[in-house]
Amino acid sequence: MKNKKGAIIILTGPSGAGKTTLCDALFKSFTNLRFSVSCTTRPARDDEIDGIHYQFLSKEQFQEGIARGDFVEYAEVHGNFYGTLKTELQTGIDVGWLTLLDIDVQGQINIKKLYGDYAVSIFVTTPSYKDLERRLLMRGTEDINSLQERLQSAALEMKQIPLFDYLIINDDKERASNEIVSVVRAFLCTIPRYDVQGFINNWAQH
Ligand code: 5GP
Repeated sequence: MKNKKGAIIILTGPSGAGKTTLCDALFKSFTNLRFSVSCTTRPARDDEIDGIHYQFLSKEQFQEGIARGDFVEYAEVHGNFYGTLKTELQTGIDVGWLTLLDIDVQGQINIKKLYGDYAVSIFVTTPSYKDLERRLLMRGTEDINSLQERLQSAALEMKQIPLFDYLIINDDKERASNEIVSVVRAFLCTIPRYDVQGFINNWAQH
């Protein structure tokens, strides 16, 4: 029996918690998975490509998008705007794709409100504050101010864990990757994702 529609997988967690590795694990396991490309006003990092990692917009372009109602949700994070485009989500739901989102806590609350049974939220973090600090230092993408800012917002984000459906503590890459794949597989079997009545009727006739 076919699932009703697509699904939205929301990944949230501090920068440096290893979300990219877990995304890679999901891409290896689910062929109909695609990444929702957010818009942001923050400058691109050296290894980031416009249209692939983000759509990089000026503050003015972002404001125009808000005025047109282009975003399902948007938030200010570390002094920059980030937003999810309506088109990125609705197409995926209608076509039957799994759409992967990497958004902040506020974003996940808004998306869960709008997409309810079609969305699962997963919080990813390190085993400790010290681990996160070490990973961010090793990554070397932030200056000292930005590093401090990210560590402070991580401590705040951690307090929101009870609002999520699942928690993955990324202490071991392989175990955490297996866990996230299992979470998504389980979510795809949840009852509201099926046309249950249709299944029962069909079942009784054959
Ligand atoms: P970064 O600058 O490290 O790429 O992202 C900073 C934060 O912005 C991360 O916590 C990330 O999850 C969040 N973020 C990225 N895109 C979106 C979005 O479209 N909406 C919201 N609400 N947050 C986002």
